Amino acid sequence: MSLDGTYDDGNIFARILRGEIPSARVFEDDHVLAFMDAFPQTRGHTLVIPKYSSARNLLDEEPQVVGPLFLGVQRVARAVRAALMPDGIIVTQFNGAPAGQTVFHLHVHIIPRWDGDAPGRHAAGAMADMAELQALAKVIAAQIS
Ligand code: 5GP
Repeated sequence: MSLDGTYDDGNIFARILRGEIPSARVFEDDHVLAFMDAFPQTRGHTLVIPKYSSARNLLDEEPQVVGPLFLGVQRVARAVRAALMPDGIIVTQFNGAPAGQTVFHLHVHIIPRWDGDAPGRHAAGAMADMAELQALAKVIAAQIS
């Protein structure tokens, strides 16, 4: 799907939001939900999504949703740092399949990085163990402030 298209409310993140499929939830407020990426590029790879949104990507999003989304991203990124003490953190998002997007509900990746550690490839890794993701979600959630 390119930059143009119709939002499909059967996408995997919409289903996670509705609780139809399990996820390792880290944080939730009135605006955003954060949960662990099921195919993490590094340990602690977390996703933040707007809760009330029919935007496939950043360009589609209502301006009033963008501010609270990125406040949530900053809050969760700080918690990832405090919990896992990485040497760096990638904050990124992809718009359209040619850019690497595979799930078409706006989302932001928080990917902790450690010196000397190579991250896995985007959307090409193995599925993580749910119990491990839940444990990571718990240690990150404990650092939300
Ligand atoms: P995108 O490629 O759209 O930027 O990112 C989608 C992300 O969603 C990928 O990093 C991928 O690993 C992750 N993902 C795909 N399916 C699931 C799922 O069922 N649960 C979770 N938690 N993450 C998923």
